[in-house]
Amino acid sequence: MRIDLRSDTLTLPTSGMKEAMQNAALGDDVYGEDPGVNQLEKKVAAMFGMEAALFCPTGTMTNQLAIRVHTQPGDEVICDKLSHIYLYEGGGIALNAFASVRPLDGDRGRITAQMVEDSINNPDDVHQPVTSLVSLENTVNKGGGSIYDFEEIKKIKEVCVRKGLILHLDGARLFNALVETDQQPEDYGHVFDSISICLSKGLGCPVGSLLIGTSTVIAKAKRFRKVMGGGWRQAGGLAAAGNYALDHHIALLKEDHRRAKEIGRILSQNSYVKNVYPVETNIVLAELSEVMESVDFVAKLKELDVHCVSFGKYLVRFVTHLDFTDQHLEELAQRLKF
Ligand SMILES: *Cc1c(COP(=O)(O)O)cnc(C)c1O
Repeated sequence: MRIDLRSDTLTLPTSGMKEAMQNAALGDDVYGEDPGVNQLEKKVAAMFGMEAALFCPTGTMTNQLAIRVHTQPGDEVICDKLSHIYLYEGGGIALNAFASVRPLDGDRGRITAQMVEDSINNPDDVHQPVTSLVSLENTVNKGGGSIYDFEEIKKIKEVCVRKGLILHLDGARLFNALVETDQQPEDYGHVFDSISICLSKGLGCPVGSLLIGTSTVIAKAKRFRKVMGGGWRQAGGLAAAGNYALDHHIALLKEDHRRAKEIGRILSQNSYVKNVYPVETNIVLAELSEVMESVDFVAKLKELDVHCVSFGKYLVRFVTHLDFTDQHLEELAQRLKF
């Protein structure tokens, strides 16, 4: 039995999802005529209480479109130093938006309102880039699936309003945070100027992300998406997978979290593991004792047909997902006893 915990993007469509994909009515989305895409965009916008949404192939694209729309060349973007937009989008902030980054040293990827306030450049000083955008990530991938305190988010929003900054959310795993907290999607829609969500992570779709925002922001993003070559045609099959996942898979994230906590417990009993980060959602980060480097640990597990990734010299990451069941978990517990 292969146990693959490298990422929650590895899931394959369930039979229900495949059926929905097969039965999708199709049209050309560049002409605005794909019924499934239109339905998905409307549904997600309504879910977040926002005006409009744009279906895109990846979360990198939705984040990059947002940054491109919200900034002018030469502006500066405030984010945490662990942010996906900073670390894992190929320098896209510079390449696509011609903007620079002010990476802050937060707590497992989470910054505070005070840190934001202290990092805003003086708009009257021509030496300094113009601070125009703050981007948060929830949950934080590199922080080990850490969840933002919504009260802190509201304080950050207050700073943004007072200082005239735009607030974007990389919510690739926002639903993982939502199922663990009291907030609803509209609470986020109310606070952020734009939100990116991924359907291809815990929700189990093969492809798909949405950018959500005002009609003006989404109209501009749609123009840039076309320029990037992201205008797609009969994408309704993929949209049908998204519609299906939103109806059936959100509640299942709780199960992923339960299993991740259990993996954390099992790992902490392994003699090579020094410390496991608090497991808040579906990501487990384990720090190894310095007798074994992460690449060697990953290789050792690979021999046992258990797959995880190196996340630093002594850090490894395990991510639970739809295709990881209780049966896999039982088997994993056995294999990790070495
Ligand atoms: C996966 C991910 C994205 C988007 O990744 P794509 O592979 O481009 O869809 C964005 N932000 C975070 C935090 C992610 O984990």
